Amino acid sequence: MKTLLACPHCDLLQYETSLPPQATARCARCAAPLYRRVKSGHERTLAYVAAAAVCFVLANVFPLVALEASGQRNSTTLLGAIADLLGQDMELVAGLVFVTIWLAPLLQLAGLAYVLLARLQARRAAAEIVVLRLLAAIRPWSMVEVFVLGTLVALAKLVHMAQVVPGVALWSLAGLMGLLAAALNTFDEHAYWRTAAGADAGDAPAGAVRAE
Ligand SMILES: [Zn+2]
Repeated sequence: MKTLLACPHCDLLQYETSLPPQATARCARCAAPLYRRVKSGHERTLAYVAAAAVCFVLANVFPLVALEASGQRNSTTLLGAIADLLGQDMELVAGLVFVTIWLAPLLQLAGLAYVLLARLQARRAAAEIVVLRLLAAIRPWSMVEVFVLGTLVALAKLVHMAQVVPGVALWSLAGLMGLLAAALNTFDEHAYWRTAAGADAGDAPAGAVRAE
C-alpha cells in the first residue's frame, strides 16, 4: 500500500518510500526533510530515557544547591525549593516550576518508555494514541533547560554574597536536560507508525517520490 505524505513546508503531496539506514527523505519540490530512518531508533531512544530517568531520580534525592554565609549552611532540594515558594505565598510560581521542571519531564519519560517498551515487544500499548497526543501536548511545557540556566544565572549573582556550592541535583538536572532532548529528538514517530502498520523497511533508494 502506498502512503501519501504532505510536505509540511510547501504542502506537496508525495508517495512515501522506504529508506536505507541513516538516509533522509526530502521533498521533491522544496527539499525540506520529510522523514529519516534512524538505525535502532527505538532502542537508542529508550537508552536515553533510562539515563534521563536516573538523572531525574538523582535530581530529586540530592540537594540542588547549598549556600554558606557567616558559618551557616543552607541547602535545598528541588521539591524543597518548590515547597519554599509555596510557603512564601507564591503559589503561581510554585505551580509553574512544579509543572515545567518536575511533572512535564516525568510524564515525557514515562510516556516514551510506555509506548517504546510495548513496541520493542512487538505489540501496541493500550493507551498508545492518548500517550502520543499527551507527549505532543506537554512538549512546550517541559522547560528543564530554562530552569538550569536561570539557576546558574542566580547562583552567579549570589557568589559575592555567600559561598555557593552547586549540588548533585543541579548537575543531574543539566544531564536530564541533555538526555531528555536527545530522547525526544531521536524518537522517530514516522518509524514508529511504519512498524505499527507493518510496512516493509527494505533498501529502496532515499527520497520521496512526487505524486502524479
Ligand atoms: Zn516541500
